[in-house]
Amino acid sequence: MLYQNYEMVIGLEVHVELKTATKIFCNCKTEFGAEPNTQCCPICMGMPGTLPVLNGKVVDYAIKAGIATNCNIASYSKQDRKNYFYPDLPKAYQISQYDLPLCENGHIDIECETGTKRIGITRIHIEEDAGKLIHDDKLGTLIDCNRCGVPLIEIVSEPDLRSAEEAKAYLQKLRAIIMYTGVSDCKMNEGSLRCDVNLSVRKAGETILGTRTEMKNLNSFQFIMKAIEFEYKRQVDAVEAGELIVQETRRFDADTGKTYSMRRKENANDYRYFPDPDLPPIEITEAMFSTIKKSIPMLPDERKCFILNYGLSSYDSEMLINNKTVADYYEVGAKNTDYPKLLANLLISEVFRLIDADTETIRISSLNLAKVAQMIGEQRINSSVAKRIVKELWENEFDPEVMVKEKNLEQINDRELLLQYVREAISANPKSVEDYLKGKQSAFKAIVGQVMSKTAGRGNPVIINDLVIKEIAPN
Ligand SMILES: [Zn+2]
Repeated sequence: MLYQNYEMVIGLEVHVELKTATKIFCNCKTEFGAEPNTQCCPICMGMPGTLPVLNGKVVDYAIKAGIATNCNIASYSKQDRKNYFYPDLPKAYQISQYDLPLCENGHIDIECETGTKRIGITRIHIEEDAGKLIHDDKLGTLIDCNRCGVPLIEIVSEPDLRSAEEAKAYLQKLRAIIMYTGVSDCKMNEGSLRCDVNLSVRKAGETILGTRTEMKNLNSFQFIMKAIEFEYKRQVDAVEAGELIVQETRRFDADTGKTYSMRRKENANDYRYFPDPDLPPIEITEAMFSTIKKSIPMLPDERKCFILNYGLSSYDSEMLINNKTVADYYEVGAKNTDYPKLLANLLISEVFRLIDADTETIRISSLNLAKVAQMIGEQRINSSVAKRIVKELWENEFDPEVMVKEKNLEQINDRELLLQYVREAISANPKSVEDYLKGKQSAFKAIVGQVMSKTAGRGNPVIINDLVIKEIAPN
């Protein structure tokens, strides 16, 4: 009850590594997983006397992301130095953007329990990534500079999110949009999409924002959800106990599921931002803008309109379009069955849980899955047989229609035959019948289960349910 009196307010800052071949200010490669310190040079290591030159692709990609998220694109923008000391930052400043970002005032739409919700995007700016510290028990702390100068965009949302589920839906949608544009692979396990969560609480109905804390560098949906839930409760408990929430950066520990204070949060003026004197301003011409705009492929929302034509709910469509590979897969399959909705159900309820989060490949051809949907639709197989076929198809491909015939898995729709099984099951289980008549639903399921096993799992469940009800309680 206590927590229901409060509302959580979340804004996300998402860092996305851009898929350029070279870094933002030098010609070093950006490939993930190379030997430490083999992809760096005096420029990205911040040696005195070096001169950064902006990689034009970075600007194109950031604008592409901005257009795809409905932002206004600046015609004039600049880069600034953000000064701070940390061992993974050899220059002791990061080149970022302060008051004139490339993109501002955008939004994306997400699907949540209450329907479609619009989440504002405050800004998108370009910046360079820092290096990586590796903590070794014997050798101490080592630095890998391969990541220094890898181009990033930072996408800052408005504090429009109100629950962990909304934060997840927003991130999924944002990730989908960025992946569709092709500017990043958004692999969370490789750190190419990382999320900082800003969270505050307030009493329900209040309009003034509470003091927020920031949880940095979360790189899995699961951690983000857990961190949000823990931090929300921690803040409500603190407010209830009369404590003040301190503006600070907190670390989420995946092992304990808790957040811990790291440092008091800096304000913008702590960073002593100033325009980078080595880099000229960025000017975006009309021609540049329209060339980039034309290069944007079909985006998730447009894709969704197509998929909605197959009679799916908005929520199910969103599940399918959030991954371009899945959307492509579904559309090929849907063209090959008369039951596209059943195909979507199979994908969402059976196939999704088999997909490996890292590789995201579907090990069943869309044509074969379409055949399974077709057989369900034509009442040739029931759903439990369908589940079994999907599992087996995942292991190795075969023609599901041939398999159903060969293994004699076709659904039994013969009412007379099923009625005979139903009567047998009823007379063999008088106790279950009695329990059901007293209102126990599980007893009903037990009888249906008995019938189903008499058919070796092949009975038509709709007919069986109907017959059992008619036999036991005809009125
Ligand atoms: Zn370099």
